[in-house]
Formats: sequence, structure tokens, C-alpha cells
Amino acid sequence: MLIQLLYVSRAAAPQTSTVTASILLASQENNPKQAIGGVLCHGQGLYLQLLEGERSAVNRLFARILLDTRHKDVELLHLQEVERRRFAAWSMAHVELRADDPMILMQHPEFDPYSATGALAMKLVDELCASGHRIQLPGA
Ligand code: FAD
Repeated sequence: MLIQLLYVSRAAAPQTSTVTASILLASQENNPKQAIGGVLCHGQGLYLQLLEGERSAVNRLFARILLDTRHKDVELLHLQEVERRRFAAWSMAHVELRADDPMILMQHPEFDPYSATGALAMKLVDELCASGHRIQLPGA
């Protein structure tokens, strides 16, 4: 059974490129073995990550992510079963969340993932991916 899980969290320390790179490296290393794909949005002190894969594999990864001290206030926003994959099972795209992003400003001026509905947060992630904000990892 395939699921998509979306959560938000706050960075425990400044989101330097080193921290982001180490998270993406772990994703690149571990996710393909579990056929997990998705997208990691980061910026503005937040992480917004969509994980997609078999339900038990996604749950195991989410349990690890919950324990990670690089972030806090992890909150599950949305969980849904899906018929088919939207993201390749071996890729974790990443997207930078910028306060001055015209697309976010125009379409979601008040966007706060902690108070938004899960459906709205999913829509934003969809839009970010569709609008070319998505950056593929090298080799992905
Ligand atoms: P180990 O590497 O054995 O680490 C042991 C503990 O230290 C764990 O609690 C781990 O979370 C923590 N830790 C590991 N590296 C660091 C570090 N550099 N600084 C501080 N603490 C650290 N992992 C994935 O495999 N796939 C993902 O898609 C993924 N997405 C993530 C998204 C976010 C926002 C964050 C914060 C982390 C993400 N991680 C992801 C990393 C994940 O939390 C684990 O660190 C990683 O999966 C390795 O797990 P492990 O049990 O082998 O831990």
C-alpha cells in the first residue's frame, strides 16, 4: 500500500547548507533502499517534507526523523493513500522556501504550515514542484 506523508518542523539551529546537505545525503543514501521518494522543502527556519512509499517503510523513516535533533516541533500535516507514485522511488527533490518567493507571496501570502490545513500544505508542495522550484539531487 502506497502512501504520502507530509510533515512540518522547525529547524533546531540555522539552516546552513552543511545541515541541509547532510540531511539530503542521508536521504540519498537510505531512501532508495526503501523505495522512498518525495520532496524536502527548507527555508524560513522550516522543513516541509513529503515522503512517498510503502506505508511501513514510510512509517519507519518517519519514526527516525521524529528523533532527529536537527529539528523540533515535528507535526504531521497530511497522510493519504495513493494509487501510484508521484515521485521516483529513488529521489528526494529539494526546494528552497523563500519569504520573497513571488509564487508563495501571490498565492499564499499568509501561509503558515502550522495552521494551514493539510490539503493546503499539500497544494503548496505540489505547486512548488510544478513551478520549476524543484531541484533534483545530482545523480538522481
Ligand atoms: P544515525 O545516522 O545512526 O544517527 C543517530 C542519531 O543521530 C539519530 O537520531 C539521527 O537523527 C541523529 N543524527 C544523525 N546525523 C546527525 C547530524 N549530522 N546532526 C545531528 N544529529 C544527527 N533520513 C533519511 O534517511 N531520509 C530522509 O528523507 C530524511 N529526511 C530528513 C528530513 C529532516 C528535516 C531531517 C531533520 C532529517 C532527515 N533525515 C532523513 C535524517 C534522519 O533523521 C536520520 O538522521 C537518518 O535517516 C539516519 O538515521 P539513523 O537511525 O541511521 O541515525
